Amino acid sequence: MIRKQLAEVEQHIQAACDRSGRRREDVTLIAVSKTKPVEALQEAYDAGVRIFGENKVQELTDKYEVLPKDIQWHMIGHLQTNKVKYIVDKVACIHSVDSLKLAEVIEREAAKKDCKVNILIEVNVAQENSKFGISMKDVLPFVKKVSTFPHICIQGLMTVAPFVENAEENRTIFKNLHNLSVDIMSKNIDNVNASILSMGMTNDYEVAIEEGASMVRVGTGIFGIREYSI
Ligand SMILES: *Cc1c(COP(=O)(O)O)cnc(C)c1O
Repeated sequence: MIRKQLAEVEQHIQAACDRSGRRREDVTLIAVSKTKPVEALQEAYDAGVRIFGENKVQELTDKYEVLPKDIQWHMIGHLQTNKVKYIVDKVACIHSVDSLKLAEVIEREAAKKDCKVNILIEVNVAQENSKFGISMKDVLPFVKKVSTFPHICIQGLMTVAPFVENAEENRTIFKNLHNLSVDIMSKNIDNVNASILSMGMTNDYEVAIEEGASMVRVGTGIFGIREYSI
């Protein structure tokens, strides 16, 4: 089941790359496994998946303990500062850095563990009150500030687009995030290569790829619907 759905997602990714003249290797698929049991992740692993996304610290560390060590774990959900210490040395990337306070705690905990943490800045492009993320206009000053933190590597931007019936409705949001990333790159800030764009989920990853996504976060499309929407 998972193998088959994964193959379908792969086909869609390839098709979106073909349509937009992009190379498949420039788009990373993150299998979002939140709420799914370890057996489901193992099945995806056996089908070749090595990159998983989780949104809860406890769940991520529990799965980290029991699954193979060549998995890259991506933290994609809102992160509380008091939980940073449990994951800084375990994750390949934190996609959801949405405040200076959180960046400061990541810096402090990474320094303690003597590791460097890859982060993406979560941007609330659609200005939805219900969503986490920094406003577009605050991103550049935020990047300038956090780029001076020695244990943090800013790799790009992330957004969670609104849930829409028709994925086309989110195209402008993806375009806006892309433009913002180009703008930041053009400033040539020391230590910043913010070229990664984490955008697109099951409902809209093809449009996101057409608009330049370099990471897509697909859960339902691979693992099926979640029993609990946490
Ligand atoms: C759950 C989640 C996803 C995956 O959502 P699907 O619609 O199941 O693909 C992607 N990104 C974030 C931040 C999520 O929390």
